[in-house]
Amino acid sequence: MRTFPGAVFLALHLIGSIEARGAGIAVDVGHYLGEPGVISARGATEFEYNLQLTREIEVALKHAGHRTLLIGDDGLGEDLSRRAPRASGMDLFISIHHDSVQPRFFSTWTHEGVERQYSDRFSGFSLFVSRVNSHTDASLKCASAIGRAMRQAGFVPSRYHADPILGENRPFADEENGVHYFDNLAVLRTAGIPALLFEAGVIVNRDEELRLRDPAVRKRMAEGIAAAVGICLGWPA
Ligand SMILES: [Zn+2]
Repeated sequence: MRTFPGAVFLALHLIGSIEARGAGIAVDVGHYLGEPGVISARGATEFEYNLQLTREIEVALKHAGHRTLLIGDDGLGEDLSRRAPRASGMDLFISIHHDSVQPRFFSTWTHEGVERQYSDRFSGFSLFVSRVNSHTDASLKCASAIGRAMRQAGFVPSRYHADPILGENRPFADEENGVHYFDNLAVLRTAGIPALLFEAGVIVNRDEELRLRDPAVRKRMAEGIAAAVGICLGWPA
């Protein structure tokens, strides 16, 4: 087949411009195999939930034309302080987590023959930014955009993290959109770029766990995040 240098150049140029259209988003899978985080009401690990949602978010971000870098998706990222620095050169760092509640709110139930801990008292998503991070304003702008997108998609902020009795007294940065300050969170503090932590929902809550393992719910969440990121970073999705 004959090739035409001009046509090849044009094709490469077009591919290049498509790739350059989006922002660079680093998505961090919270926890690792050795210490997998929260154990859900049905005995699944938070790491499994974080990984599934991260993969869905990666699909949505790429579909919207953004570049992605996954961090910790091999389950071996034990040194948490080395995660955020890997994202240098990207535009935004998002750490994906699933939530629990304070241990004193736990009850026990038997699921598939195994006694498990659960609490149906709290539910919903939360977002966190650090004021020690060097890009607090940009971090908050993106966290607020994601919270707004979640609300528009029908999800509800958990709110209990702000409560000194029920939660951990993490003050609201944007109450309406479920964003809190969590200044010393290592993964946010050490990021040299705008950074936020997303708690997708409370997996020790029995009903919420069922929702969060629904692929359609995950997809809706991921698409909301991808759209919000485009808005806060100024990229048309
Ligand atoms: Zn976590």
